[in-house]
Amino acid sequence: MRAEIKVSGIVQGVGFRPFIYRTAVKNGLVGYVRNRGDAVVEIVAEGNRDKINQFLKDLQKEKPSLAQIYSTTTDTKKEEEGFNEFKIIKSSGEAKLSGSVIPPDVSICGECLRELRDPQNRRFNYFFNTCTDCGPRYTIIKGLPYDRPNTTMQEFPMCDSCAKEYGDPANRRFHAQTVACPDCGPKAYLTSNKGEPIDCGDPIRETGRLLHEGNIVAIKGNGGFHVAAATTKTEPVARLRKDKHRKQKPFAIMAPDLETVKSFAEVNPWEAELLTSYRKPIILLKKSSKYFLSDLVSPELHSVGTMLPYTGLHAMLFDEIKEPAFVMTSANPPSEPIVTDNKEAISKLGSTVDYFLFHNRQIAQRCDDSVVRFHDKDPCLIRRSRGYAPEPVLLKQVSDRCVLALGGELNVTSCTLTGNRAFISQHIGDVENLENLRFLKDSVTHLTRLTNCNVEAVACDLHPRFTTTKLAQELASRFVCPVVQVQHHHAHAAALMAEWNVPEIVAVTCDGFGYGSDGSAWGGEVLYTNRECFRRTAHLEGQPMVGGDLAAYHPLRMAAGVLHKQLDVTEWLLSLSNKFPHGRKEAELIVKQLEKGSAPVTTSCGRVLDAVSAMLGICYMRTYEGEPAMKLESTAINGKDVLNLAPKVKGNVLDTTVLVHEIFSNKDKICAADLACSAQSYLARGLAELAIEEAMRLQVKHIGFSGGVAYNEYITATIRKTVEKEGFRFLVHNKIPAGDGGTSFGQAIVAGFQKH
Ligand SMILES: [Zn+2]
Ligand SMILES: [Zn+2]
Ligand SMILES: [Zn+2]
Repeated sequence: MRAEIKVSGIVQGVGFRPFIYRTAVKNGLVGYVRNRGDAVVEIVAEGNRDKINQFLKDLQKEKPSLAQIYSTTTDTKKEEEGFNEFKIIKSSGEAKLSGSVIPPDVSICGECLRELRDPQNRRFNYFFNTCTDCGPRYTIIKGLPYDRPNTTMQEFPMCDSCAKEYGDPANRRFHAQTVACPDCGPKAYLTSNKGEPIDCGDPIRETGRLLHEGNIVAIKGNGGFHVAAATTKTEPVARLRKDKHRKQKPFAIMAPDLETVKSFAEVNPWEAELLTSYRKPIILLKKSSKYFLSDLVSPELHSVGTMLPYTGLHAMLFDEIKEPAFVMTSANPPSEPIVTDNKEAISKLGSTVDYFLFHNRQIAQRCDDSVVRFHDKDPCLIRRSRGYAPEPVLLKQVSDRCVLALGGELNVTSCTLTGNRAFISQHIGDVENLENLRFLKDSVTHLTRLTNCNVEAVACDLHPRFTTTKLAQELASRFVCPVVQVQHHHAHAAALMAEWNVPEIVAVTCDGFGYGSDGSAWGGEVLYTNRECFRRTAHLEGQPMVGGDLAAYHPLRMAAGVLHKQLDVTEWLLSLSNKFPHGRKEAELIVKQLEKGSAPVTTSCGRVLDAVSAMLGICYMRTYEGEPAMKLESTAINGKDVLNLAPKVKGNVLDTTVLVHEIFSNKDKICAADLACSAQSYLARGLAELAIEEAMRLQVKHIGFSGGVAYNEYITATIRKTVEKEGFRFLVHNKIPAGDGGTSFGQAIVAGFQKH
């Protein structure tokens, strides 16, 4: 009999066809397997019924570790075509179905790493050693099907030895599109910061030595450039901070192995598992008591973003030197995407770095490192990018239209929803300038093409002036389809609802800013949402942002605005004149602004945390997103809720003035750690109470927490404790980011499932 089988899922680029070949031959079947242009794998197998059934069982049970099967369809017929053998045949260009996709980049596997270390192996020291189980995927793919001519490996014709392995079904590199060796594959080379070649036998280990000596080197990877420096010396990190215009923002680091990581950070078993997994994200680990890296790596924070080597090149950097870790920060000029082109690197990074370590393979898709933080055993994705994107998030429900969603303004990702699969793009960044907007457009084009998505609606934020809102209108007229604008916190809540497949939810959504349905600034919200609609049921008290957006950058302004309601803060503000960029003049101007009293109002939870951070002298100026609140959390780690303030609720509004005043009046009596903790506790308990009240009234079983503030471990744990005590199920994100990187997914959900 004849079986025609179609398999969709992550089945291209993961050694699936060789696996099918081996399994078919093992079961004595004849026929063929091929990749299709729509990312489906098509199998025709002929043989007796038992053998075919066994084959189908093996297919599910023994599939390659990176493969994920979402669905298989099997048609059986009596008539056979009469093949002589089983073959892997040329891919077909067929592209009708949508929704299957190539895998994310996979870090180097143990076997490839072992070969790289083996002097007898012909790939000894080959920095780009890969096989069907490992190597870049998304970052090298220009189109589907995933075959060598559709990747940036096409410029490297295989040598005879590689071609033999590629064609041998018994070989680990059978049809591995990234197969290469020192003779035929990409090469690495070192240059000065002007791009002049530097002659050295071993450019990668030489780079390790240069870093060890205190130099700054830009290193080209799979998805972009990193800027690297030693972590035990202050000088290079200080120089990097000056040149990168990053006064305080923490740098990610790369350590050679888990043992070394444990010498400076605490690693729980779940963190260890993900650190060493094939995804290899940056994990924000707690600094240990023995932390000995430069204070400039992650200033005034309790955590340090750490990852392990994910290519052979990275592993080799550490070979001949003793460095516990290197700074490995994405090489992007302020608010621009990560640099990918060699020439562009020299012009944009040449003044920052001392050397370049290049290789000569092009980057098809840029992709930053992913960032994850754990709350005990729960992973919270801060940035979902390399190692994750574009692997889809599977939904229980099927969307009846294909949606493209563009996110908001900060930490943007795009999302393509088709059927029950949501493909979230790699991290794009803050779309305020042309370069990042171009990056967003490119990734949208790439992803809609890879997924064969016929866009039927474009979703975006409610904010009328966001760049992404304008882009949505542009794209909608190109696709001739409607635009669906989704309120920011509604998107957060809908994302949570879809991730957990619950029909309705009361969600606490807290962040820095989202454009509210009434046009005002929101950010400390309790929402009810189901698949049809959402309602804002409660929120934090509105507080003035003295000087508008300036209040987000100089949180003393926020504090002054709240305190001014009941106190004369003139003297206090003037005493802190030196904390403002324009000194006393600015402090005096703020006093005038307070008296005038016409500041815009925000219900943002982030802004309240900022105000507390400034009053406690923890952070007076925000140099990166979330800085005052993150430093507040780090301070609070060793504190207790000594104030234990009862949440003051008026109607459906949680009073924050009382909190700010209590902190202010106790700041000289109680230590900053205890007050920081008390402030977090008040907000968490207050918001939880509001959510519980609403959930009881509506008889909703699930209460969730989303938005950037949900990265705060203490606040999340406190809300959890409070709502679980009342018998509700508490939901947080663990597949998509709680912050704004997850809003494109939420927008897609709203546009895909609401009635239209
Ligand atoms: Zn491998
Ligand atoms: Zn070769
Ligand atoms: Zn948000």
